[in-house]
Amino acid sequence: MISELQKSVWAQLTAKLDRLPHALLLHGASGVGKLALAERFAQLLLCEKRGQGISPCGACQGCRWFLGGNHPDVRFIEPEAIARNLPGPEEGEEDKPRDARPSLQIKIEQTRALGSFVNVGSHRGGRRVAIVHPAEDMNTATANSLLKSLEEPPPGAVFLLVSHRPARLLPTIRSRCVPVPVPLPAPRAAAAWLAAQGVRAPERWLAFAGGAPLRALEHATGERGQAIERVLRAIASGDRAALGEVKGRDDLEPLAEVLQKMALDRAFAALSGRSKYGGSAVAGDARAWLAYARAMGRNRVLTSHPLNPKLFAAEMVAGMPKN
Ligand SMILES: [Zn+2]
Repeated sequence: MISELQKSVWAQLTAKLDRLPHALLLHGASGVGKLALAERFAQLLLCEKRGQGISPCGACQGCRWFLGGNHPDVRFIEPEAIARNLPGPEEGEEDKPRDARPSLQIKIEQTRALGSFVNVGSHRGGRRVAIVHPAEDMNTATANSLLKSLEEPPPGAVFLLVSHRPARLLPTIRSRCVPVPVPLPAPRAAAAWLAAQGVRAPERWLAFAGGAPLRALEHATGERGQAIERVLRAIASGDRAALGEVKGRDDLEPLAEVLQKMALDRAFAALSGRSKYGGSAVAGDARAWLAYARAMGRNRVLTSHPLNPKLFAAEMVAGMPKN
């Protein structure tokens, strides 16, 4: 449960339930559990049987609707590309024009619709909750439209903004929200939490995710995790040829990510004697590995472009510093 992993933040969120600010800004590194906290908190606010408790009951109508994704008094304002219940691009659809792809930005229609959502009375006679995630993914016009709702909040409306990069928000938006910093949890608690989610070798995945447990969970489960695992194995065995053996384009970004972190580990090892992402602590030529890490960071972005996966993978591996 996220409230166990981020106990002090949860305590802070639930301390003043009856005098709740109308807008909170949960901010912190990617993968520390900000969105999960916002969701759990929204469920708590909409729970109809919580009494004085600080946990949602999980069984009332409000909780069941929330968990089923169809509570009428909650709205998720997210870019189409990450919005829940939307199918991803199908195989063979990659040649479609770019504007046919789901938007990476929150659209102004979404924030405008929020105005009428919060101003209409709640369906269940309780609060209305809007979760805006990630709040930095808005252009100025969209942010200003959200600002209108934040400036004149109707009673009962609660805005939960979630941001990995709060510095990118409009200062006027930041100033309307009570900041709630969400830190990296202690490594031991994070590893125990991951183990409870069924993750094997939780310490290794946690290290790979730079200590961010939800990011680690994302890595350790699913197809992307398998691609990462394969690359990590190839690195451990020192088999460069196996490293570049990608099955398709989906393998490129995980490959670039592992290579980037491996490179950062070699550079950190040279500078501080320790690795940061659980990789080799053998010091390398710091400057060469840092340059390579930067190149891999750029490649992670490029892998969404049309390109020849095998050629691209081979080039990434060939560019690796020798020591
Ligand atoms: Zn409930």
